[in-house]
Amino acid sequence: MTKRVVIIEGEDASPEAVRPTVDLVDRLQVEIEWVRPPVGETALARGLAAFPDEARAAIDESDATLFGATSGKSVPALLYLRWGRDTYANVRPSRFFPGCQSPLREPEGLDLVIVRENIEDLYIAAEGDVADLAPLGLTSRFSGKPVVEFQPGKYAIKVITEKGTERVARHAFELAQRRKKQGHPGRLTCTSKYNVLSQTDGLFRDVTERVAADYPDVAFDTLIVDDFAHKLVKHSKAFDVIVIPNLYGDILSDAAAGLVGGLGVAPSGCYGADYAYFESVHGTAPDIAGKNIINPTATILSAAMMLDYLGFSEAAGTLERAVAETYAEGSVKTPDQGGTASTIEFCAAVASRL
Ligand code: ATP
Repeated sequence: MTKRVVIIEGEDASPEAVRPTVDLVDRLQVEIEWVRPPVGETALARGLAAFPDEARAAIDESDATLFGATSGKSVPALLYLRWGRDTYANVRPSRFFPGCQSPLREPEGLDLVIVRENIEDLYIAAEGDVADLAPLGLTSRFSGKPVVEFQPGKYAIKVITEKGTERVARHAFELAQRRKKQGHPGRLTCTSKYNVLSQTDGLFRDVTERVAADYPDVAFDTLIVDDFAHKLVKHSKAFDVIVIPNLYGDILSDAAAGLVGGLGVAPSGCYGADYAYFESVHGTAPDIAGKNIINPTATILSAAMMLDYLGFSEAAGTLERAVAETYAEGSVKTPDQGGTASTIEFCAAVASRL
């Protein structure tokens, strides 16, 4: 059955990665109908709002979205894709492809996936003046002082819910189960700052621990997030799947990307109960916009994740293999991986292996 996919190219250098990626997917002859609603600059140029109703309707009528990256004008679309469509599990794989530039001495075999809760935590983005908290009469657990004594200053609210944690934990356990069938260890690590933030991050750990009982075939452990950060760098290959609250996940998945070659090769997918969108981990790379040198690997691998989600797993495997072979052969690499190839040349090299 034909799947419908919305394309939102985003800003700056992002379209330079998205367009050739779509061409690569087309070569795989999968039944995908691409929809390109006006969003951001294209919408504004037509006198529409940055995220017009027709773009929202296009998303609602589609099976998935392939998103570039945004530095501003496409932000309302991104907010809708995440909070509007409740895409709560942000899956960020870090897999080393031999030929990529890793700072590790022996990166071969590094293949982990960070599953970041995508909706809650500090990203509910409710901030304000500390003085406004006075009616709550809160006290700092460590200093014993009234919270309002920490002023003038600003606060941010961190929220972790049982429901939000349970659903992302299940997503992560199910991913670990699927990976186990493909030969991975079948291990899930839950990490947060549960020793200090015993209520919020403690809830995240407790709920995940409870959910673990439903997945006895997956080895489960917990780590305090600073310990995890250390082990991620020192013993990266020990990890399989990691489930983590939103802010820590945002930061540490960029660190994990650095281990396998950087932002240019880091894909992601954001999954909800009935929708998913796919985007590279990197931003719009404004400093290299218009130069045709953005590494499209992150976007190509995000498209491969999308193909898998849509049920085209063979095509997803073909695309990923073509990327791996291109790096293994090694003569066509973009500047971020130590090469001199352009974005288009890299995509042509991948296309020749499909
Ligand atoms: P955001 O806050 O949206 O993540 P940012 O400006 O902090 O954006 P990026 O846009 O990801 O971060 O860029 C950070 C640096 O990495 C820039 O120097 C950029 O050129 C580089 N970079 C990011 N993605 C790529 C890529 N795909 N290929 C090559 N270089 C990239």
